Amino acid sequence: EPVTSTLLDLLERGAAEHPALLEPGQPSLSYAALRTSVRTLAGQLQAAGIGRGDRVAIALGNGPEMVLAFLAVASVASAAPLNPKYRADEFAFYYEDTNAKALLVLPGTLEAARAALLPGMRLIEVLPDPDHGIVLDLPAAPFQADQAAQPDDVAMILHTSGTTSRPKRVPIRHRNLATSATNIIETYQLGPADRALCVMPLFHIHGIVASLLSTLASGGTLICPSGFDALRFWGWVEAYQPTWYSAVPTMHQLLLARAERNMAVIRAHPLRFIRSSSAPLPPVVMERLEATFGAPVLESYGMTEASHQMASNPLPPAPRKAGSVGVGIGVDVAIMDAEGHMLPVGERGEVVVRGGNVVDGYENNPEANANAFTHGWFRTGDQGYLDNAGYLHLTGRIKELINRGGEKISPLEIDDVLLRHPAVAEALAFAVPHPTLGEDVHAAVVLNTPVSEKELREHCTRSLADFKVPRQIHVLESLPRGATGKLQRITMAKTLGITE
Ligand code: ATP
Ligand code: MG
Repeated sequence: EPVTSTLLDLLERGAAEHPALLEPGQPSLSYAALRTSVRTLAGQLQAAGIGRGDRVAIALGNGPEMVLAFLAVASVASAAPLNPKYRADEFAFYYEDTNAKALLVLPGTLEAARAALLPGMRLIEVLPDPDHGIVLDLPAAPFQADQAAQPDDVAMILHTSGTTSRPKRVPIRHRNLATSATNIIETYQLGPADRALCVMPLFHIHGIVASLLSTLASGGTLICPSGFDALRFWGWVEAYQPTWYSAVPTMHQLLLARAERNMAVIRAHPLRFIRSSSAPLPPVVMERLEATFGAPVLESYGMTEASHQMASNPLPPAPRKAGSVGVGIGVDVAIMDAEGHMLPVGERGEVVVRGGNVVDGYENNPEANANAFTHGWFRTGDQGYLDNAGYLHLTGRIKELINRGGEKISPLEIDDVLLRHPAVAEALAFAVPHPTLGEDVHAAVVLNTPVSEKELREHCTRSLADFKVPRQIHVLESLPRGATGKLQRITMAKTLGITE
């Protein structure tokens, strides 16, 4: 069911004295303080002439200041959270593309973001404040509730990660975010006793909706350090006892690499569950995570255009399936062929979704809209099938499938087999051009310990049909990733200079 609430409405659910935000080493902020602070900041923005329809760029690292600034901006205008690590050219692109009227930053930081300011854009500094957490470098003024954002207003402008083409601009409305947060709360039965450890960046849909909004809309506590850190993670678990965290597979793998020396912390503070999303979780990583943390690992499927979550594996006692992203919860999920016909159970096709969480369309991009929004559904660009229990199995992005002489090969399956070899730390199968087959299979790996290419290929031959075994396996120091940590599979052959 679509939920028509604003983010301000969602903040009303937490008990006044219950901690809403917790930053390691700092006093916590209660729900009462959070609500007051967001209104104080929103009033300042309104008095500065920022209102509905305006876009405000925010370049802040993770922490309570980012949470407060984001909620305040979204309550009166549209927030455009940007990666603070961008270079000046990138900032300039996003200011222009989102039509930003102002930029929010901390004093004395982000030279690149300041240098890129467009003519007429206003710089607003975010200052620490003992009572409210933060205050804006603007005159104080009462919040005008009757001028505040409505459920149909765009709360946030984000861009897709740009894994398959240029990033697309996605306007996400309050009702989309409220629906998605509500779906996530239902999926994991989140409540006031839950404490989420936020390790995902808050300029990406995953962190904003799964960690931040679902926690605040269920009256729980968000533990909000300055970002993911596989060394400090264990200290946060010990000090603040989170009940869950959500992360991308790369982060889970980095934590696994540090887990052995932190087993005492893991045993003393068990998690209720671990959530994984935004990229495929190789089944072998899921198995190791469950064995190490002794908690259910629930893989979920998310994307920017769906305000994050489209499907998830459910909490026990319902079964979770390795290699599946679970079932649609509050979201309709189906499989469609190129002509718009629905495909039956077990057949591979394009994953399509619909629901109150899915946005109405890309902004100023009629061509992408015509391709993606068809027959009342949104085409995800991912390939997959539904099993007879309704679980969705992704077989790869349509643009990333390897077409070897007409044989469509899912690279995910090859990644997983390679990762099962003890010497392999990271793996990425990809297409290379081939004179007669069209495409052939290669793979790149990062190793823990030296191993010959011959041994890796033999290992693959034991689990994969010959045509799927990588013709060549390249050993690299690291694999190329996009800004949100996604492996860059499509450009891999080019990156390695492989022409034929
Ligand atoms: P662009 O659309 O610009 O190419 P992108 O699709 O990577 O970039 P996002 O919206 O951040 O941008 O990511 C959504 C995509 O991430 C999904 O379409 C899917 O391919 C992938 N994804 C998300 N969760 C999972 C998962 N659990 N397993 C496999 N893939 C996933
Ligand atoms: Mg996409």
